[in-house]
Order: sequence, then structure tokens, then C-alpha cells
Amino acid sequence: MDEGRDTPAATGSGPPIAGDLPPLQRAYRRYVTHFLKCWDCRDLDRRCDEGEQLWRDYTHTGDATGRQLSG
Ligand SMILES: [Zn+2]
Repeated sequence: MDEGRDTPAATGSGPPIAGDLPPLQRAYRRYVTHFLKCWDCRDLDRRCDEGEQLWRDYTHTGDATGRQLSG
């Protein structure tokens, strides 16, 4: 009864769009874009809520990517 029907169920998903940045790059870009136009974030002693959130997104994304690569 071995019909070799264990085909992967990923037939519907295509390859990632060429030219689309990886999540880490996108998060970093968002943070830098904000950083460059935000005086609060450019001041080393301060950071606005939005900048904080973007920075967390970036470090969190980096964390996830690192874990993926190592495991
Ligand atoms: Zn800011």
C-alpha cells in the first residue's frame, strides 16, 4: 500500500518576491528612517515612543533570525 503520497503540502506557496527586503532589513530601515527625522531619537539621552517601538521591532526581528539560523 505504499503509493508514495507524502508530497509536501507547500504547492500553493511560491518563492519570495524578488527585491523584497528580509524582515530584519525592513525593520532596520524603518528605524533608521524614523531616527533621521526625529530629534528625540537623535539625542542619545532620549528616545520617543515610536523610536523605542521601532528599535524593539528591529532587535526582536534580529533575535528571531539569529535563532532560526542557529537552530
Ligand atoms: Zn523618535
